[in-house]
Amino acid sequence: MIFWLSFYAFFFIASVYIGYCKGNLIAGVLLGYVLGPIGFILMCMSKDRKHIECPSCHAHIHKNSYFCPECRSKVMSTAV
Ligand SMILES: [Zn+2]
Repeated sequence: MIFWLSFYAFFFIASVYIGYCKGNLIAGVLLGYVLGPIGFILMCMSKDRKHIECPSCHAHIHKNSYFCPECRSKVMSTAV
């Protein structure tokens, strides 16, 4: 019983953390709470809404940045 509780809590916290990192905290909390490990997997596969990929060097940068911190090229923030 304790094992399953800690197992479940681990995936709940992990999915909340992934949701926070991806700018999708509410979905992380809900999926982790309702689905546990499955919610964690869904959060892993969900789209990162907080970061975009630099078109020049493919580095992950914040979606609001105008210049890539890695290669200094201008980034069009076309968030899809
Ligand atoms: Zn770049």
